Amino acid sequence: MNLTTDVAVVGGGPSGLTAAAGLAAAGLRVLVLDREREAGGIPRHSDHTGYGLRDLRTVMTGPAYARLLANRALEAGALVRTSAMVTGWAGEHALDVTTPEGRLRVDARAVVLATGARERPRTARMVPGDRPAGVLTTGQLQNVVHLHHGKVGTRAVIVGAELVSWSAALTLRTAGCRTVLMTSEHDRAESYAAFSVPGRAVLRVPVATATRVVRINGRDTVESVEIEDLRTGERRTVPCDTVVFTGGWIPDHELARAAGLAMDPGSRSPVVDNALATSRPGVFAVGNLVHPVDTADVAALDGRHVVRHVLAYLGGTPTGAEAIPLRAGAPFRWVSPGLVRPGAGAPPRRRILLWPDEHRAVARVMVTQDGREIARRTLPWPVSPGRVFRVPSSLLSGADPHGGPITVSLA
Ligand SMILES: Cc1cc2nc3c(=O)[nH]c(=O)nc-3n(C[C@H](O)[C@H](O)[C@H](O)COP(=O)(O)OP(=O)(O)OC[C@H]3O[C@@H](n4cnc5c(N)ncnc54)[C@H](O)[C@@H]3O)c2cc1C
Repeated sequence: MNLTTDVAVVGGGPSGLTAAAGLAAAGLRVLVLDREREAGGIPRHSDHTGYGLRDLRTVMTGPAYARLLANRALEAGALVRTSAMVTGWAGEHALDVTTPEGRLRVDARAVVLATGARERPRTARMVPGDRPAGVLTTGQLQNVVHLHHGKVGTRAVIVGAELVSWSAALTLRTAGCRTVLMTSEHDRAESYAAFSVPGRAVLRVPVATATRVVRINGRDTVESVEIEDLRTGERRTVPCDTVVFTGGWIPDHELARAAGLAMDPGSRSPVVDNALATSRPGVFAVGNLVHPVDTADVAALDGRHVVRHVLAYLGGTPTGAEAIPLRAGAPFRWVSPGLVRPGAGAPPRRRILLWPDEHRAVARVMVTQDGREIARRTLPWPVSPGRVFRVPSSLLSGADPHGGPITVSLA
């Protein structure tokens, strides 16, 4: 079967649904395709509060947030098709889709990729040892507990100490499973003190920093993990029946790669400019696909940002001047957007997003172009691995539109 639409949005999470609502409200025919049985993305199974602050100016639970965004897209006139997995491209703006009713070809005038990001599972982290049951990512854990009301064990070790790791600890508590240890390879927990201090106190979760899981033991189910102190090399065995790997994000970038879009080697995301346009005209990318990962409200605001750029593209407005590459300097692994196109306006929320690999209590940001320093500013928030570091895009205002690549680093 063939379907035609003005805009096909791949992924019905916060970013895709928000883009769909805005585009449909502007009078376009919009089709959202999501492989899950319900739209909403990750928040659907993230059953705790903390969603909606920046986009909706309120705070709610993940499932309530997911429902609200899905309803807004529907009310605006978007079609939301679930159990619809986009498997590939049938043309520049045409998609191959697999549904329970059979295969579908969707021809669109523009495509918004909003496929999100996932946590690397154990296999991708190369942790040696046995292969017992009871090893999960946070996403899998929350699916088991909140969507399928299944059981987990009674003693868990959480690998990672990011925000998402505390989300895992909350879910484990709901499921009646005690977190006996949280491990971080860094010298300090990655999440904000506002989470890790009460987390340790209220959830009574001990955090072992500078620690690595080096082995998982167990025949059928997990029996213990072996952890190594990275400072001393000492190893100890921690009895547990559940291991949750948290963070370690990888974008769901298969469709972007299949399209041959320019990709960022640091984030493994499609490279976008300040309009969230990819290297293929008429194909845009939003949300955690382009910054793995930031919070849901930031992803949703990408969706809001892209609307006027999709409208401009469909209206035939030229994209503007040649874009300047934006590069991540030490200690950052990636920067998003990866291109600054003069004339395309500010990036979403007037922020440049960077992913640090090291902790720095004081963030002295430096911006250079062609060996020349164009801006330097000390920002009042720390740099911490495991969470996005946000920089005002006004720091790029001194860049030469005809100059070479711009690098953002710490002085
Ligand atoms: C455990 C956990 C807790 C979190 N807690 C918070 C919190 O408290 N507050 C907060 O603001 N943020 C939180 N976040 C982050 C937040 O969930 C994400 O930032 C947000 O969901 C990103 O939205 P997105 O639209 O980019 O992607 P996603 O929500 O990941 O949605 C992507 C969608 O694309 C679909 N998809 C992917 N590929 C295809 C394909 N080929 N075909 C069809 N559909 C496809 C998926 O099914 C999915 O529905 C948390 C994340 C996790 C994992």
